[in-house]
Amino acid sequence: MDDCPICAKHRGEGPLAGGPEIWRDDLVTVTHKPAGQLPLLGHLFIEPLRHAPHIEDLTDVEAAAVGSAARRAAIALRAEVDPELIHSAVIGRGVAHFHQHVFPRYRGTPDEIPWFETDGWAEAPRGGEPEIAALAERLRRYFTAV
Ligand SMILES: [Zn+2]
Repeated sequence: MDDCPICAKHRGEGPLAGGPEIWRDDLVTVTHKPAGQLPLLGHLFIEPLRHAPHIEDLTDVEAAAVGSAARRAAIALRAEVDPELIHSAVIGRGVAHFHQHVFPRYRGTPDEIPWFETDGWAEAPRGGEPEIAALAERLRRYFTAV
């Protein structure tokens, strides 16, 4: 879809582009949040390549691919950043192109910080472009080997 920022991102264009791609197959892509937002290291997005606005718009095959990619993302994050937990959420209030967040809750995150504010913790590990690129390279291995 021409005016969708996530479709534009998949073409390497627009305001959401810039986070490294970790995996792409015929159906889905897995990317890291762009460095410009100084994100939590390991904040990943799972998105169908086809423009599907919400979860109910996915085909069964796309939904299975999303689920599999989210699982692999969690396995990769577990192995590479050793978080306390891995959160995953579909919120659907922002851009109307399905995207599933998968992100670590780092060890030491205070209990009073709710799951949806883990990236607001001042001591949470964040990354600029080099740190994100290095982590993406490490995470990529979990998507190519079965
Ligand atoms: Zn789209």
